[in-house]
Amino acid sequence: MNPTAERELDAALVWLRRDLRVDDHAALYHALRAARRVWCAFVFDTAILDALPRADRRVEFIRDSLVGVDAELRALGASHGVDGAGLLVAHGRAADVLPALADALHVQGVYASHDDDPYALARDAQVRGRLSELGIALHTSKDHVIFERDEVLTQGGSPFSVFTPYKNAWLAKVDPFYLRAYPVAKYAAALAPRPAPPALPTGRVWAGVPTLAEIGFEPTNLHQLRLPTGPAGAAELLDDFLAERIDRYRETRDYPAVKGPSYLSTHLRFGTVSIRRLAREAWQRAQAGSAGAQGWLSELIWRDFYHQILYHHPHVVGHAFRREYDRIHWEHGRHADEHFAAWCEGRTGYPLVDAAMHQLAQTGYMHNRLRMVSASFLTKDLGIDWRRGEAWFAEKLNDFDLAANNGGWQWAASTGCDAQPYFRIFNPVAQSEKFDPEGRFIRRYLPQLAKLPDKLIHAPWLAKPADLDAAGVRLGVDYPRPIVDHAAAREKTLQRYAVVKARR
Ligand code: FAD
Repeated sequence: MNPTAERELDAALVWLRRDLRVDDHAALYHALRAARRVWCAFVFDTAILDALPRADRRVEFIRDSLVGVDAELRALGASHGVDGAGLLVAHGRAADVLPALADALHVQGVYASHDDDPYALARDAQVRGRLSELGIALHTSKDHVIFERDEVLTQGGSPFSVFTPYKNAWLAKVDPFYLRAYPVAKYAAALAPRPAPPALPTGRVWAGVPTLAEIGFEPTNLHQLRLPTGPAGAAELLDDFLAERIDRYRETRDYPAVKGPSYLSTHLRFGTVSIRRLAREAWQRAQAGSAGAQGWLSELIWRDFYHQILYHHPHVVGHAFRREYDRIHWEHGRHADEHFAAWCEGRTGYPLVDAAMHQLAQTGYMHNRLRMVSASFLTKDLGIDWRRGEAWFAEKLNDFDLAANNGGWQWAASTGCDAQPYFRIFNPVAQSEKFDPEGRFIRRYLPQLAKLPDKLIHAPWLAKPADLDAAGVRLGVDYPRPIVDHAAAREKTLQRYAVVKARR
């Protein structure tokens, strides 16, 4: 008996978005089980791309990753007797192009993974409407997180807004079922050979992956970074992390000069690795007693936590989670703009903050400890609105994820759901002495300070002129003097936030 004969649909299209892989893929699995012929497509959505600079590491990361996905699809098809399977890639407004492509392929169903970003929800509603006019159904399912939307709620049935009880409920609920991989290969005989790319009324389609130039972008320094792309790149980073670092995660994760964390965030963002694979590894090792794996699993749970916060509280985009914090008066005007520019460009005079901002500019990555330090510095030393910093990170981070970025910024600014209290203000020098004690990270990104002794590198303005001379540092010339005094800024911040306390 032909196992595909009973399938309900003749043809289906899988629309890849932030799930750029073939293995353990929920939407692909559902499509392969439902239809006799299945294609996969990715749309370079001009509604998103048009707002980006022409050289953008994320776009290059996606394009390169699609090359890997295309190769995996072809190989998967070939190993199941299907010649000519592979990715279709389109360029245009997703809301127009995707329904047009589904129509041209005469499919009856489109399968995609949930994406709960407000933009994506609105786009999907539009696509669903257009598909339905064509008699095509849009089926979406969870893929990006372990638990989504209403899956982990308080006993009273409402969403959690504090992390620790959320984490406890998450851990109480998780079991091998939720962590199991979708067995895509079992049904891969339903992959269909790629047709000649259909002509669409708007947008363009390729059988295979267009070049960066074909979608109007230029190369970046992505290939000089230690960020291998595609599912194979994710596997390489994961193997490296699991080999031994995961067990030492708790001890190493806070030190930016140490190779401690997994560096998988960009892969998680674009789904080149399955969250189930990662959570399964972490959960099993945590159960076997690895404290490092427990710590790392907690971070994966933070990721789920912020996704459900965004889903239940979309007002966090543009507003404080705790609305009374919208009353805070942030600095504005020319002086604040100058301070903001100094922060963006790594010219604040606080070496750890500046080194962090250079890491972001040069690589698109910033270590977690430094995200907290630099976000705290912007909001609590410079008194600048967290939304400006959030937007800067959104533009620069390779792993930019609305839910995690917004959550991180609101945590640092104390405006968020389970944020640090507003009176807890990181001292950028103490953070530097604690987490980069030998100044190794600072030296990497601020070579002009490299010759300063370890003790002086955290606050060069406190060094004696003779020490500065010996290290070849001219303050105000090679490296700026601090643009604010931390102690004074701290007092100002306490007053700034008092507006919340006073009127609660
Ligand atoms: P690991 O330490 O190996 O952690 C594994 C994974 O867990 C990460 O890849 C990430 O997916 C998840 N994770 C870890 N910490 C957090 C967290 N606090 N919140 C949510 N998920 C977490 N993370 C992003 O993925 N995208 C962002 O845009 C983002 N913006 C941030 C902004 C600020 C101000 C702050 C304080 C944090 C932000 N984070 C963001 C969280 C965190 O800094 C990064 O996920 C982490 O540094 C990525 O490095 P890694 O993959 O080596 O992490």
